[in-house]
Amino acid sequence: MRFAQLLVVVAVAGAALPACSPACSEVPSRPKNVILVSIDTLRRDHLGLYGYSRNTSPFLDRIGRAGVAFDQCISQAPWTAPSHASMLSSLYPSVLGMGRFEDPGHISDTADMLAEVLADAGFRTHAVTSGGFMAAKIGFAQGFEIYDDAGLNMETTVSRALQWLRGIRDDERFFLFLHTYDVHKYKPPASYHATWVEPYSGALAFHDRIADLVQNHEEQAKAGALDDADRRYIRDLYDASIAATDDWLRRFWETIEQRGLADDTLLVVTADHGEEFWEHGGSGHGYTLFDENLRVPLIVYHPSLAPRMVPEQVRLLDVAPTIVDLVGATAPTSWQGESLEGSLSGHAKTLVAFSEHSHFPAKSARTPQAKLILSVAEPTRGFFDLRNDPLETKNLMQELDRATARPMFEGIERWLRANASDSRFRSGTRIVFNAAELEQLAALGYLGGTAGGAVEDPDLDVWLKILSDTR
Ligand SMILES: [Zn+2]
Repeated sequence: MRFAQLLVVVAVAGAALPACSPACSEVPSRPKNVILVSIDTLRRDHLGLYGYSRNTSPFLDRIGRAGVAFDQCISQAPWTAPSHASMLSSLYPSVLGMGRFEDPGHISDTADMLAEVLADAGFRTHAVTSGGFMAAKIGFAQGFEIYDDAGLNMETTVSRALQWLRGIRDDERFFLFLHTYDVHKYKPPASYHATWVEPYSGALAFHDRIADLVQNHEEQAKAGALDDADRRYIRDLYDASIAATDDWLRRFWETIEQRGLADDTLLVVTADHGEEFWEHGGSGHGYTLFDENLRVPLIVYHPSLAPRMVPEQVRLLDVAPTIVDLVGATAPTSWQGESLEGSLSGHAKTLVAFSEHSHFPAKSARTPQAKLILSVAEPTRGFFDLRNDPLETKNLMQELDRATARPMFEGIERWLRANASDSRFRSGTRIVFNAAELEQLAALGYLGGTAGGAVEDPDLDVWLKILSDTR
């Protein structure tokens, strides 16, 4: 049984609605090459394209308006390893057995990774990532001729990528995957401070591990209560980092244009997850399944695509099938996502998004109308009316409209059962990080206090019991 078929027909109100704008266009011609960029930790709503008040992203805004931007793209996990694993394999994190911060799990060799599919279709393949939870040892290197996980920042990442591209012949196709932690790190180049960081003289001004402070709540507790000025300073550093990353991407794309590759190349820009800034009491990512963590930018640009903003909900799971479809390759039957080619040409449909977290075990089902969150910890379960409460401020779990909620409960139950029954893609291999890797993860805030409240991700029976207690 193909999961894709199962997921498409999940009976949730509003799902699979065909839509076509008045300007429906022909199916676009096929791009020759692919560049996929993942800007780690980039919230959708901090880009001008999606309505942000600050001009953080002029380049991404430009390509987003010239290409196809998706307004509701939902990540399948709120942190780096499982989200990228899902994006690049088109399988849900639990199907892959992706796990916890201290042992994220290994992507099984049986998974059909995007790079493997494109390599089989004749593409030269190359990745430059920033390591940590994107290290080759987690299984991300499958299908890449070279998987370079030592890209320190956007400057070195872009430089290494352009160097590799010099060796590609005109008659060859290529797939390039770029990943950066530059937004995750809260360390923008000093030259960006004057424009983006308001004058600040608080206690954090000389703190050299802001990412750890934001992500690691024990570190935050040690720093004492953060006041409004501290929080604004943190957000300013975040915005400055987006602006710097946007500048590097613009320079990179200008070089692609100068080399005559832009018209032949599909450019896809997205993020693995967002970031919380105390909207629900916490900060960082990897703790909750609220939209500030799960709703990410997705931009697909190629000169042949008619510009549009797609309002329908899609998923990171759909990125790989879309790329493969656009370049004329064949998607493996194992993939759980769907091609968005219909959305690119004005024939969109809304896809139900399931997301999950196995460090603080939780599962969610989201439609544009509502979100259901199930978790092992009872206080963090929730039901939200996204039409009237898009910021998820009013938990309706205790006053559940069961008629509205029933299809979501049924959908999540089918999804849980289907994923639990398939063990083909669980490697069971433990990941052990060395000292240098642990230091990198600690600087990103992933170690230390973050493990404190974690429990084991339970078996299907426990999830079904939670489901039955809740519905
Ligand atoms: Zn990440």
